Amino acid sequence: MAQSNDSQNWDLEADVVVIGSGAAGLPAAIKAADGGASVIVVEANYDIGGHAIISGGNLPLGGGTSAQKKYGIPDSPDLVFSDLTDWTIVQNNGWPDYRYNDREVMRAFADHCALTYEFLLENGVEFKPIAPDNQGGHNLGNSAPRENHCFWTKGPGYESPNNRGGTGLIRPLENSARAKGVKFLVNYKMTSFVREGEKSGPLIGVTTAYTPRIMPGQSTPLKSFRSDGNIDSIKPAMAIRAKKAVIVATGGMTSNLNFRRMFDPRLTAVLTVAGEPYSFQDASGELAAMTIGASLWGLVNQTLENGDNIRTQRVLATKWNYMTWELEFPLFPLVRATGLAVKDWHDLILVNQVGKRFYDETKGDYPHGNVYKEVDPYTPNDYRNNENIHFHPTNYNFFNAAVAMNEYSQPPDYSAGPIWAIFDSEAVKRNKWNVEPPYVDPDGYFFSANTLTELATKIKNEFQAKSMKGETLQATVERYNSFVDAGKDADFGKPAPKCKIQTAPFYAAWATPNVHDTRSGLRINAKCQVMDMNGQVIPGLYCAGESAGGFNQHGLGRCTTQGFIAGTNAAREK
Ligand SMILES: Cc1cc2nc3c(=O)[nH]c(=O)nc-3n(C[C@H](O)[C@H](O)[C@H](O)COP(=O)(O)OP(=O)(O)OC[C@H]3O[C@@H](n4cnc5c(N)ncnc54)[C@H](O)[C@@H]3O)c2cc1C
Repeated sequence: MAQSNDSQNWDLEADVVVIGSGAAGLPAAIKAADGGASVIVVEANYDIGGHAIISGGNLPLGGGTSAQKKYGIPDSPDLVFSDLTDWTIVQNNGWPDYRYNDREVMRAFADHCALTYEFLLENGVEFKPIAPDNQGGHNLGNSAPRENHCFWTKGPGYESPNNRGGTGLIRPLENSARAKGVKFLVNYKMTSFVREGEKSGPLIGVTTAYTPRIMPGQSTPLKSFRSDGNIDSIKPAMAIRAKKAVIVATGGMTSNLNFRRMFDPRLTAVLTVAGEPYSFQDASGELAAMTIGASLWGLVNQTLENGDNIRTQRVLATKWNYMTWELEFPLFPLVRATGLAVKDWHDLILVNQVGKRFYDETKGDYPHGNVYKEVDPYTPNDYRNNENIHFHPTNYNFFNAAVAMNEYSQPPDYSAGPIWAIFDSEAVKRNKWNVEPPYVDPDGYFFSANTLTELATKIKNEFQAKSMKGETLQATVERYNSFVDAGKDADFGKPAPKCKIQTAPFYAAWATPNVHDTRSGLRINAKCQVMDMNGQVIPGLYCAGESAGGFNQHGLGRCTTQGFIAGTNAAREK
């Protein structure tokens, strides 16, 4: 496809270079190898998998999969396309799921998602032997159950960084990719794309930098679980020539503070990010592509208040992610605490950095996104579907409150500050929580004291603008306890508050929400080719997964399918 640029020295070369080894990157690499291409996967992390390997492994693919056929579920590409472009569907809070999906991108997804399901099976992925359902799904369409669940048990060859279902997707794909000759360059981060002309001509390669991960107290970098097929030469930087194409599968931009705030200025540094610190979605793919002229697309999908765009913090007292960490997690020295899983929001109250409640704690996430039978009866593209949707906008304003409160907020970003869960020793007993390290992180994310006033003044955290006043927290708790006596939350309507906070010691644990999904990214066409600001294809550059724009759906389904499409087409480049 491309002439080698004389001024660039290449350390490595392959037909297809895939950047990122997560839900989009691995299918892309395998499909490119299936198409006869030599493939190098560049991965910034010490091991493969990205967010996908620590995901729940709930995988939405329909359109007539063998699983749907086995369980007698009618579905087709046309039905998927109709569902995911139906402008009439809105969420309980009034935000539309599918109105702003790009039709070309959706048609390509609809036509390939059943094929991708079969491709995953052929490459060793196993699914739980149950009928596809809608559990864990977001924005999957109304007409058919499409959620499949990866099957995974810990065992030889299937090491998980943190015992999560997504391992059942990623390790089999890794095994298949390595068996098909795909080479992995781990611990190298793509830093730029090389195009024949600065903003013209085909893409001819990438530059990378060595990014080893060394844990505190260790002298050697962390190692990937499998190393056969890894490229093991180490230089501070390497340039890789791509003879046919480069595929961006870098996972999006949630970890990039400035990038994410272009969409929503409220997403300040105080918010945590799902999937960190295993891997970071730092917009490096988008930024490198934009530098050589690529366009972004479908920007509105990032700010639609639905699905997993932001999530409540369900695991307290750790800064990272929103699920408990295993003590064996290789990055445990960084996360420092397993976290305390919340089972019942009646066990605590949530207060802002001032020490005041601001919402009904039992109401958290945005509406999850339309799934099978959510609108019932449902008539595709009929504006009267709205008559069957029960609007509850107040139920879903938790984040709007959490990220927009202004008391104590300070320049430069006027961040709303952290959210703290306040509870007492009875809650600890009820939940059998262990409130010592390494279950909690006392270094800024967990505090205890014998009185509430003392607790308030102990809270110190890099994002807490000023000390919480003891009398404010004391008054908040006393008022809440009076609601428990009365059986009615007169401030925020929490249904029948159950548990007083009255028995010392008292605790404050980090409970700040979590930025989760990237839903806007590079402009792509039906072949997953990246487009420039003039609507022209950038020859040799593809994109798949959360870094690609135009598609408002959570997770693994769109990422694996676009990886499938991108890898197929990249291998066909001349
Ligand atoms: C805790 C958690 C649970 C989830 N559960 C589910 C679920 O049950 N179902 C579902 O559908 N979705 C789920 N998701 C979402 C799903 O995991 C993601 O949507 C999906 O993994 C995104 O795929 P991707 O390939 O775009 O990015 P990723 O899977 O994140 O892969 C991107 C990879 O690119 C690498 N990378 C980034 N920049 C560079 C660079 N410059 N150079 C080299 N490498 C780079 C990263 O290190 C990473 O390995 C979950 C996510 C999280 C965090």
